[in-house]
Order: sequence, then C-alpha cells, then structure tokens
Amino acid sequence: MKLSNRITGLTGGGSDGWHLFLKARQMKAAGAPVVELTIGEHDIRTVPKILDAMQASALGGHTGYAAVPGVDALRETVARRVTERTGVKTGPQNVLITPGGQAGLFAAHHAVCDEGDRALFIDPYYATYPGTLRGVGAKPVAIPAHASNGFQPSADDIAAKAAGAKSLLINSPNNPTGVVYTQKTLEGIAEVCRTHDLWLISDEVYDTQVWRGNHISPRALPGMAERTLVVGSMSKSHAMTGSRVGWVVGPPDVIAHLINLATHTTYGVPGFVQDAALFALNEGAALEEEVAAPFRRRRAIAQDILAKQNTVSLVPADGAMYLMLNIRATGLSGDDFADRLLDEELIATMPGESFGEAASGHIRVAMTVPDDEFARALQSLVDFAERNRA
Ligand code: PMP
Repeated sequence: MKLSNRITGLTGGGSDGWHLFLKARQMKAAGAPVVELTIGEHDIRTVPKILDAMQASALGGHTGYAAVPGVDALRETVARRVTERTGVKTGPQNVLITPGGQAGLFAAHHAVCDEGDRALFIDPYYATYPGTLRGVGAKPVAIPAHASNGFQPSADDIAAKAAGAKSLLINSPNNPTGVVYTQKTLEGIAEVCRTHDLWLISDEVYDTQVWRGNHISPRALPGMAERTLVVGSMSKSHAMTGSRVGWVVGPPDVIAHLINLATHTTYGVPGFVQDAALFALNEGAALEEEVAAPFRRRRAIAQDILAKQNTVSLVPADGAMYLMLNIRATGLSGDDFADRLLDEELIATMPGESFGEAASGHIRVAMTVPDDEFARALQSLVDFAERNRA
C-alpha cells in the first residue's frame, strides 16, 4: 500500500548524520567505556520534589482528560513568566500548553505554513527542523549562519531568501552552536520579518541557559508580538525531558487555532504532568539555576583547558548545554575527526556536519557528563587534535 508523500518524505532521505551517535551506543552496549558527549540530555534526572508534585496530582485524581489548551493555572503562570522576562504583556489567552517544545514547533508551523510554502530556518540547526517543516507540507530553505561571523545569522542573508517566504525559524540560545543572538542580530531579523511579512517562530527552549550576555526574546521587539510564535519547554530548564511539557506563546487568534489543532491531534497534556510543571515553575529562578549550574561550571572547565593550546578553538559558548569546537587546524572534517575520536579515544561527539553544512569542520560537545569525566574527556580531545595538527 502506498503511504503519503508527506510521511515518506519527512526526513528528506539520505543520512541524518546520527550514525556516530548510534555507533557510540553500540560500542557502549558491547562494554566499551565510551564517554558520550552527544545528545542534549542532562546527567541529572528530574528533581524529586517535582516528581512528588506529579504523584500527588495523579493520586489526587488529575488523571482524566485535562483541559486541551492547558490547565488555567499553568497557562497563567507561563504568561506571567513571559511578561516578567520580556516586558511584553502576556495573558493565558496567549499560551497553549503542548507536549514538549517539539510539538510546539510542529503546531506553530502548521498554523502559518500552507502546502508548498517556503519556510526559512538557520543552518547550523537542531536536527528535527527540516523534517518539522516538511511535516506541515512546507519547503525548508536553509540560511547559513557563518562560522566566520560567530554563527550569528546575517539579516542580509535572510532578506536575500525572504521574498515570498512564509516564516523564519530561529533558535537562541542555539543548539548546536551555543551562540546567543545579539540585540543587533535580533533587530536585523525583526526588520526582515516586518519588511517581508514573515512569521517568526522563535525556539527559546534554552532561555534559562545563558552564560554570558542576555537572552532577548524577539517577540519583545517593536511590531513583533503580532507576528511571533515563541516555543518554550520544561525539558531543558527543569530537566523534564521525559515529561513532555512545553508551550507556544503568540497572538490570541493564533492560539485559538492551535487549540483547535490540539483538539484534533494531541488532545492536550496529562493533567498530572501539567501540575508538576506548574509546581516547578513556581519554584522560581533558583531551581532553574540549579539545573543550569553544571553546564555553567563545565563551560568554565572547557575554557580553562582550551586556553592552554591553539589547535582547537571554541565558538563563543554563551548559552545552552553545548560547545561548538572548530577543529579545522587538524585538516580533518568534523565527520572524520568525530569518527576517529570515537575509535581511538572512546569519546563520542557530534560532527558539525550533522547539523548542516555551515558547521563543517566543527564538532559539537554536549556538556552532559560529570565535571571530572568531562574535564578528562576534553583534555583527551585536545591532545588528540594536537597530535593530528595538519
Ligand atoms: N528545540 C531545540 C533547539 C532542541 O534542542 C530541542 C531538544 N533537544 C527541542 C526544541 C525539543 O525539545 P522538547 O520537545 O523536549 O521540548
């Protein structure tokens, strides 16, 4: 039986660049002591008090269908948090609770793209982006953010592809580069969106992981609140990756349509998960900082190690749980470097090429193992690079 073109074409065919991750997992399963610096998952679990709140809610009976848009208290709390962080007056009618940021990205594009529409996104990119755009029938168009510009996208490059496009997807703090977009970058992006009448989808799931500078939400820039859909999530901020809870923030009429979409797709997020998210948000910034602290520490550890050599250079790592390392001095591609590092040093990283063409000659290191293990692995990585200097 023939399947839809939309589903069979979702990933666009070809290699998705994740072979190395799978190989590392296989080596580990076979008993090799591989250090995994691959995926964006904390080495801590969800803190027990959040799980206690989840259990109390479930035992208290919140196990039936929950309100599809999200429970009122959680929508209000997310709205208040957004208002406080961005200065943009936001109410519960601006918020849809989703099963994680990924579902929010899909819903947001579903809301703004028609079949065949061109949807812009920035390369290097988080692995699911092109498939998410294809999944709603849009045509993904990558815009490179150049390493030579610190992976800040240029407004001119976006403008050059913007005519006739429907939307632009950005992500700051950025996965995979760890770059935080500057005010200038975001003002340039906002201007292109206003000029070319683009919807802006702003993926801000790393907004609590900022090590230097400030996170600026582009929804707060002039004329942007009516054309921006912000995607947020509890996954990274509260180590709740498995709970599947996030949100979309946008204009009330868009949220009304997204509620309709949720009614016909997810039918909402489990009530006890939403209650746990509400509890976690009410714990305030202290808990968010506790979850972010290990990455802040490891970034400092990495900066110390990298300062003592000049073969591997660090792309300004201002946010998120990743380091993007330029290994071009070795003459190896990111793919070859990561492959050999795994085989010879038992350290698994992600080749830059798996996040798009703009990150070639780089590798991404996830700071997701304990400090001492992280320091040893990074030193071995640097030693390996120095031995292989071209
Ligand atoms: N956006 C980015 C940039 C991510 O890195 C991730 C997860 N790795 C997501 C969205 C989706 O996260 P979740 O669905 O768990 O909220």
